[in-house]
Amino acid sequence: MRIAIFGPPGAGKGTQGVRLAEKLNIAHLATGDMLRAEVAGGTDLGNQAKQFMDRGDLVPDDLIIGMIQSRLTGGSGMVLDGFPRTIAQAQALDDALRQANMPLDKTIYFKVDRDELVNRLLNRAAEQGRSDDTLETINRRMDVYEEQTAPVLDYYNSSGKVIEIDGTGTPDDVFQRLVAAVESGS
Ligand code: AMP
Repeated sequence: MRIAIFGPPGAGKGTQGVRLAEKLNIAHLATGDMLRAEVAGGTDLGNQAKQFMDRGDLVPDDLIIGMIQSRLTGGSGMVLDGFPRTIAQAQALDDALRQANMPLDKTIYFKVDRDELVNRLLNRAAEQGRSDDTLETINRRMDVYEEQTAPVLDYYNSSGKVIEIDGTGTPDDVFQRLVAAVESGS
């Protein structure tokens, strides 16, 4: 099963993506986690990506596509979390999966209001101290989401594939909805 999870920052993609991948026993591919590992490791890619991440901007497409391409195919499936975030990334993903004859099975969107998202991210900042969880960067990430990532949903919706899930409530509530959506025939 190949699933892509979309949603604005703070919508719960990471938490839910890990749980879903565990339940289905497939890979969890989160570009944000990969980038943070590159930054922590002080690699060339990490050094290039850090300035964009710290500002709340997207890391350029060529760096992201290069980083994830070799991990997209093979294996019994994957949960994509935080990728694709631009139309160019969605097209690169489509090309890679089409060539491997492994199309996405489900595209899932977590819907949460912006006020709730900002609150969640400020709480996460207090708990985890992520360097891009400041109020200024959070607002920038929301704007970037609306400008660059929301159009990706339209791109997928045009082929009738996006399942919208209410992302509010407890993580367990959201997970139940997610599993139901994945298991449904739609
Ligand atoms: P996340 O953990 O998914 O919220 O990602 C944290 C940051 O990593 C984002 O604000 C971006 O700067 C960068 N990032 C993660 N995934 C992508 C992507 N697919 N395209 C561009 N930048 C990304």
